[in-house]
Amino acid sequence: MRIAFEEESRRWLISNGLLEAAFQLTPSGDFQFQDLRHLSTSWTKAGIPAPSLIRFRIKDGAQERWWDGTAGYQLLSHRETPTSRGGRQLSITLQDHARRLELTVDLEMFPKDPVLRYGVRLRNLSGETLYLTGADMLAVDLAAAGGNYQALRVEQWMPVENPADFKANISPLDPSGKQLVIESGAHGRDCGWLAVADGSGRGLVAGWEFDGRANAAISHDALRDILKLSATIQGIHHPVEPGEEFTLPRAFLGAFQGSFEEAGWVTQRFVENALARQPVVRGETVKEFPFVGWDSWAYGQALHETTLRRNAEAAARMGIELFIVDLGWARNMGDWHADASKFPSGLRALSDYVHLLGMKFGLHVALAESSPHAPVLKQNPDWRSSKSYGYYGADSLCLSHQPVKEWITAELVRIIDEFDVDWILQDGENMVKECTKTTHTHHPLDSNYSNAVDGLNAVVREVQRQRPDVLWENCENGGNLMTFQMVQQYVTSILNDASGARSARQAVYGATYPFPARYADRYMPEERLDSYITRSYMIGGPWIFMNRLTEMRAEDIQFAAEEIARFKQIRPLIRNGRISRLSPPPAEGITDAIAVYDPDFGLGVAVVTRDQSPDSLPRVRFTNLRAHITYLVWFANDSRSLTMTGQQLAEDGVLIFLPLAQSSEIVYVEALR
Ligand SMILES: [Zn+2]
Repeated sequence: MRIAFEEESRRWLISNGLLEAAFQLTPSGDFQFQDLRHLSTSWTKAGIPAPSLIRFRIKDGAQERWWDGTAGYQLLSHRETPTSRGGRQLSITLQDHARRLELTVDLEMFPKDPVLRYGVRLRNLSGETLYLTGADMLAVDLAAAGGNYQALRVEQWMPVENPADFKANISPLDPSGKQLVIESGAHGRDCGWLAVADGSGRGLVAGWEFDGRANAAISHDALRDILKLSATIQGIHHPVEPGEEFTLPRAFLGAFQGSFEEAGWVTQRFVENALARQPVVRGETVKEFPFVGWDSWAYGQALHETTLRRNAEAAARMGIELFIVDLGWARNMGDWHADASKFPSGLRALSDYVHLLGMKFGLHVALAESSPHAPVLKQNPDWRSSKSYGYYGADSLCLSHQPVKEWITAELVRIIDEFDVDWILQDGENMVKECTKTTHTHHPLDSNYSNAVDGLNAVVREVQRQRPDVLWENCENGGNLMTFQMVQQYVTSILNDASGARSARQAVYGATYPFPARYADRYMPEERLDSYITRSYMIGGPWIFMNRLTEMRAEDIQFAAEEIARFKQIRPLIRNGRISRLSPPPAEGITDAIAVYDPDFGLGVAVVTRDQSPDSLPRVRFTNLRAHITYLVWFANDSRSLTMTGQQLAEDGVLIFLPLAQSSEIVYVEALR
């Protein structure tokens, strides 16, 4: 890692040998992004004489205006510091000419990724309260230097009238400068990520680390030769007291060369190396992660300890490692004590039994919801957020109201201790509530920001500080908060709930562009199993059975146990590997294929699924392997074993025997040394 400063020109260069970025404070005091260089292919995006990275709106008394990199800044200081996970950070501190604000631009790089992470902090020097009323987390303008730009965005899960379901949308950028908009964050349409590449495959990825709503945009203005990015927080009105320093949510910008598969890989690797919460318990990385789990929702809220014990016994026999009690265990939402009619022996007794069977105990908590009949809302009716989202009849709580935050934090710690919880399945409807109340401790116009950062994020962070050995799964009635803030607090995320086998494959196909495979957990509701069903859930993060194990036929139980053993064999690959899409997105009438390779391309696994296609002998071509390496190829069902080079696997491909209209095969490839 190299950080250099040229005193005379006030130019900084930050490089990790993979990516190099240069910034300058010009003689007139403008802070500019000078260029971004992808060192392995040596392509460069030149900066343009325009402000960069700094873009926010301040309300200062009666005045309200946008600030950017052109405020006649003076350089106060710059310093280099080590950050977590081997990163290094250059912090450049500037002061505006009127001495109302001090700004620090943090530029961070990690050793193995062609990615620049950055953020802006601002300190109020004015002596009066200032309000931050707008913020762009991705204020980047670069020279376009190319044409035929295509952008990729991936949807979240929204089961509404116009549903969104992890579709990967590739669209050309209009060279007239028309914006392509990405609506991210809680209850937004898209994941908080974008990728863009020109006709020669010179590409950028960008992600922003914010759970509230943000609208990102990208545009290509060919006439002025500008590629313009932004990601603007939709609703912030945050007081910054005199002397206080406020930190804006961070973002990152990475470079790649090639297809959008490369864009995904650059992002996934960076997320694992730099951002994602690791599955660490008592200081040790959990080797069995991602787990095979079971969830009680096949019984809905009609839970009973006897049924759950029988399911726990069956689960343990099948090799399931995580046993989750879903919604319905408590007296009521918000009244987080076990329902004694469902758990006459107590919920702790069930947790102990699950532990005795060798599994981890997971519990569903809708931490921002409460029944109107729960004592907490009877005693504190004003703790509701101004908008309620009706999660199974509950009212919503405002997590950024200080008393609510303190109460739910203490409740979560108590729940963890009382029931010996290893895993929290966080759930609810829209985890970033809208609340415009004037009676709460947050500003009424600051809901989107404060319910995300000071609400949800702060609650989870504090509980995790107090109880660091509990792993958290992200859910908000499905994968509806697919952000790069989310990955920092949760070890996995639900995708499209228990929507069935084909949907599970579709969701994984899209979600694993921006996110590592372990953030694609799948819920399997089926009880009658065959290879088509089980393998539709095989690639991804935790594989969670959401069925009645005690009602499964013996042959299905036996088959499930064999398939669980297969999953456990391939999960080290899933944990660290690179997803490669070998077909168009899964759909009825075609055969789809998705692979995961280890980072050195020595080992790979592909799941090939025939979904009512007429072709019983599809040919699958393995892209992205090493052309000149010889691989041994074998199968889960088929007894053939083949020896082929990476080039043959890519060009000729492999014929897969899939005699049934809905069936699936697993193909293994391993480099011969
Ligand atoms: Zn509120």
